[in-house]
Amino acid sequence: MPPLLRPLSPSPSPPPPKLLRRKQPLRVRSLHAVQPYDYEAQLQSHSHRSSSLKIAILGFGNFGQFLARTFVSQGHTILAYSRSDYSSLASNLSVAFYGDPHDLCEQHPEVVLLSTSIVSTERLLRSIPFQRLKRSTLFVDVLSVKEFPRDLLLKYLPPEFDILCTHPMFGPASGKHSWAGLCFVYDRVRIGDDEARVDRCDKFLGIFAKEGCRMVEVSCAEHDGYAAGTHTVGRLLEKFGLESSPINTKGYETLLDLMENTSGDSFELYYGLFLYNDNAMEQLKRMDMAFKSIQNELFGRLHQIYRKQLSGNAEVARDLDMMRYAVQELLSNGAPPHAEPPLDPDNAT
Ligand code: NAP
Repeated sequence: MPPLLRPLSPSPSPPPPKLLRRKQPLRVRSLHAVQPYDYEAQLQSHSHRSSSLKIAILGFGNFGQFLARTFVSQGHTILAYSRSDYSSLASNLSVAFYGDPHDLCEQHPEVVLLSTSIVSTERLLRSIPFQRLKRSTLFVDVLSVKEFPRDLLLKYLPPEFDILCTHPMFGPASGKHSWAGLCFVYDRVRIGDDEARVDRCDKFLGIFAKEGCRMVEVSCAEHDGYAAGTHTVGRLLEKFGLESSPINTKGYETLLDLMENTSGDSFELYYGLFLYNDNAMEQLKRMDMAFKSIQNELFGRLHQIYRKQLSGNAEVARDLDMMRYAVQELLSNGAPPHAEPPLDPDNAT
């Protein structure tokens, strides 16, 4: 009889399955299998140990490219995004260029650096797909004003992102050959306590320290107070037509440097500096007052001399009149016409 047709009969219960005992502890052979639990932590600890950073530059114009050159030379991985297509220029600099901010953010840079014009910063910030970035990302700005981007970053960034506001106080002209001794201003606006986050911020600052920059930590407000007038003075000198001469003094050379450094910057940059620094209008008024005060001082002094000359002439004229009168009296009385020689009014003081 085929087994299926056999009548059911109680059969002895089967022996319990033998437990396979492993001789060795469990080992995970596929990294993919553990990614959901371990991957970010591994990346984090790797970047913690490595000295290079993955930095995304948003705004790959004049200044963004200038920074990228040095970042690449120090071995950092640089990505860039800009509204214009800089792909071939970027590839010459060994920078990966992305025409879409979504694609760039999916590369999970550790640092996102804003190097757009001041006036376009808010628009750019609103277009960043923050959800595609890692939960902890450091945002850095290099705008030449500081309170304005600080407030924007605090307003738009998710609270778990770190914020470092900086101003390299040099550019493609002044930092062409070296950054040694040039001033780098920064304010750690919001850096998490976590060791890895502090370390990432220090690593970024280390790029500038390594180039020999003079590292100056001041608040954004202090920076804006100090920096408001520099570009205006540079542009004034340009309008004035300052020129080099064979007898330049050191002070004069400094003025020429200032003029050259600021005249290379776009007018949009200057306009942004003026519009978005609360102290700029105040500084412009003070410059106007300073100019008038010097004018007044000079003209006041000239006026005194002129009045003195006028009054001097009046005295002379009065003396001459009196002398003329005395001479005529003497002559008419028949006295000898000696007396004193007539005064030359031109030599009177
Ligand atoms: P800039 O004229 O201030 O900015 C040019 C950058 O802004 C370019 O990347 C440009 O993108 C981008 N941009 C302009 N309008 C835009 C818009 N409507 N939407 C999106 N992006 C826009 O010149 P910069 O010299 O490169 O300066 C960049 C930043 O660095 C500024 O914030 C400046 O204050 C700061 N900075 C400059 C210097 C310096 O010496 N130059 C020094 C320190 C700090 P596209 O090129 O793609 O059009």
